[in-house]
Amino acid sequence: MPDASLLQLEEVSRIYGDEVQVHALDRVSMSIEAGEFVSIVGPSGSGKSTMLGLLGLLDLPSLGTMWVTGKSVRDLSDYERSRLRGDVVGFIFQQFHLIPHLDARKNVETALLYRNLTPGERKRRAMEALDIVGLAPRSDHRPVQLSGGEQQRVAIARAIVTEPKLLLADEPTGALDSTNAANVMEIFQELHSPLRAIAIVTHDPAVAATAQRRISMKDGRIVADEILTPTQPAAGYGGTLGTDGQGTLEAVETEADS
Ligand code: ADP
Repeated sequence: MPDASLLQLEEVSRIYGDEVQVHALDRVSMSIEAGEFVSIVGPSGSGKSTMLGLLGLLDLPSLGTMWVTGKSVRDLSDYERSRLRGDVVGFIFQQFHLIPHLDARKNVETALLYRNLTPGERKRRAMEALDIVGLAPRSDHRPVQLSGGEQQRVAIARAIVTEPKLLLADEPTGALDSTNAANVMEIFQELHSPLRAIAIVTHDPAVAATAQRRISMKDGRIVADEILTPTQPAAGYGGTLGTDGQGTLEAVETEADS
């Protein structure tokens, strides 16, 4: 039964292939509440990208049920699912995925194109989002005129301009040096609010330690689901842990054997 969770998965599997089947997700049950800050970690091939595709409404479970804001995604038409995605989810990718010939403001505006807004309103909202990530003064710069960290901040502005309830980030610091990575993680911490949940897929333990909850995956299953005391973003990104980079473990729930 769905509850008030932002997202809920019950016994969700994602199986690829027909003759040789890969259980990329294997009977996963979990939920993400409004305003949570979650990291999803695990070795390569453990099912993180598959999970992100499902959470972002880009993909559907092969088996099991997933509810987003109380709606079962299986009951939605493709159109309804993409509308729900546009309303609920904002995506941030490792490689930014900005459009090279558009300036920062116009890149942010692309997220608003399907909404029924006047050009003036689109511009105002894009500038507001750029201001939040500290880039309003660079709104007329094209991606090539911006550093990697700045490009990722434009991508974050594009993800938040629609006011999504869930920000999904796939290795958002993977292409950045440690200073820019810390800066981007600070922005995530500022953006995290009771109205805006954040889920970050990362292989970097220091990035994961800045979240409040860490979901660890292996072989398509959740092997640990832990509440952490988040650390402040600091130098040490890129796989090298700072002294306090682990976060403090307060509680451990494991559903690997469920
Ligand atoms: P991660 O993101 O943790 O590296 P993935 O979700 O990409 O893991 O992959 C989980 C498993 O599913 C892996 O064994 C991978 O090879 C397999 N897989 C992922 N996508 C596909 C696909 N489109 N077709 C077949 N197998 C896939």
